[in-house]
Amino acid sequence: MDQAASPARDRSALLFSRAERVIPGGVNSPVRAFRAVGGRPVFLARGEGCRVTDADGRTYVDFVGSWGPLLFGHADPEILEAVGEAARNGTSFGAPTEGEVELAEQIVRMVPSVEKVRLVSSGTEAAMSAIRLARGFTGRDKVVKFEGCYHGHGDAFLIKAGSGAATFGVPSSPGVPEGAARDTLVARYNDLDAVEEVFHQNRRQIAAIIVEPVAGNMGCVPPVDGFLNELRSICDGHGTLLIFDEVITGFRLSEGGAQERYGVMPDLTVMGKILGGGLPLGAYGGRADVLDRISPAGPVYQAGTLSGNPLATAAGLAMLRKIERTPALYTRLDELTRRLTDGVDGVLRGLGHPLAHTQAGSLFTLFFRAPGPIRSWDDVQGSDTAAYGRFFHGMLDRGFYLAPSQFETGFVSYAHGEAEIDAAIAAAGEAAREALA
Ligand code: PMP
Repeated sequence: MDQAASPARDRSALLFSRAERVIPGGVNSPVRAFRAVGGRPVFLARGEGCRVTDADGRTYVDFVGSWGPLLFGHADPEILEAVGEAARNGTSFGAPTEGEVELAEQIVRMVPSVEKVRLVSSGTEAAMSAIRLARGFTGRDKVVKFEGCYHGHGDAFLIKAGSGAATFGVPSSPGVPEGAARDTLVARYNDLDAVEEVFHQNRRQIAAIIVEPVAGNMGCVPPVDGFLNELRSICDGHGTLLIFDEVITGFRLSEGGAQERYGVMPDLTVMGKILGGGLPLGAYGGRADVLDRISPAGPVYQAGTLSGNPLATAAGLAMLRKIERTPALYTRLDELTRRLTDGVDGVLRGLGHPLAHTQAGSLFTLFFRAPGPIRSWDDVQGSDTAAYGRFFHGMLDRGFYLAPSQFETGFVSYAHGEAEIDAAIAAAGEAAREALA
C-alpha cells in the first residue's frame, strides 16, 4: 500500500526506535518485529474484548489474541478480578499455595489423559521439561518432531521449527549444539511413512514423538484422518511416549483440547497459553507413573522459583472455570471462525483470486497460494509471502490486526461477534484485491 495513505503511527515509531537501542531487534519475541511483513511494529497500549488500541490511539479488531491465550478476549472482567484479588495477598511465595492444587485438580478434570500435572512458567519450559521426562522415563535419547512444528525455543526443538524460526528460514540456530540436533529426528507432518522410516532406522532409541495435534506454527495445518491415531499405535509398538504439544490447542479445540476432539490419548501433554489466562503459565502432565519420575517424587530434575505463581494460577483457574460455565462455547467459536473463512473464501473467489485456507475450531489461516490441500510444511511453502505482507498491511490500515507472518495461525475469541467477522470479510476482500493486483 502507498506509504502516504497509511495512517500515522508516530508514537509506535518513536517507541520502536527507542526499543531498538536497548532491546535486540526492538522486540522481546521475534515475530513481533513485523520483519515477515515489512514495516514497523505497532505498539499496543490497551485491549478490551476483541479489540486492541495502539500507542497512537487507533483501534483494531484483534485476530492474534496474544497468540492464543485470550479465549474470552482482552481484559476479561472475571480474570482481572481474580488476578487483583490474588495480588492483594502477595505476588509470590516460593512455597505451596491452595491455588496450585485447585488449578491442578481442574486440569486433571478437564484434560482426559492427564492424571498428574506440574506447573511451570511458559510453553517453552513445559516442552523442554516434558522431553527431559520422556528421556528419563524411557532411558532413550532420541526424539521425533515434525517439520514446521514449534515447541518453544529449547535446543532440541530448534530443528526445522515453525513460527519465528520458519519465518526467518532458519532451520536451526547458531548456539544449538550438534549433539542436541543429532538426537532430534524430523519427519514430515501428516506423513506416516516418514515416521515409520524414522523408527525403522532408530530401533529402540526413540524416547518420544512430540507433535502439535493441530499444527499452528506453519499456519494452521490440521491432522489428516488417522494421523494422530497412527502415531499412537506406532508409539505403542515401540515403547515410545507420545507427547501432544497442546500449548495452542489446549482448552481451545474443546475443554479437553485436541486429544478430546480427535479422541486420541497421548502419554504426556504440554500446555500453556489459555491455561494461564494471559499470565505466564505453562504445564506438562499425563500418566501418573510417568509424572512420578519428576523430582522430588522421582529422579528427573525440574524446578522453578515462579512455578505455580499465585497470580498466574488465579488467572488460569478463572479462565478454566469460565470455560466450564460457558454453554456452547466451542460450537460458537467454530461457527464464528467458519463464517470468517467461508466468507473470505467466497469474496476472494468472487474477485477471481481463490486462495487456500485452513480452519480447526477457532484457529485459521489464509494462505496466499492456489486452493489445494494443506497438509505439511511443503504445502505451505508455495505461499506468496510478499502478497501476504501487503494483505497484512491493507488489513492493518483498515483496523484489523492479523498475525504479522504468513506462517502463523489466526485466533478467534468468544468476544468476537458477527459484526466484527463480517467487517473483516469485507475488508479482506479489498485488502486481498490490492495485495494481489
Ligand atoms: N508449543 C507451541 C505449540 C507453541 O505454539 C508455543 C508458542 N507459540 C510454544 C510451545 C512455546 O510457548 P511459549 O512461547 O509460552 O514459551
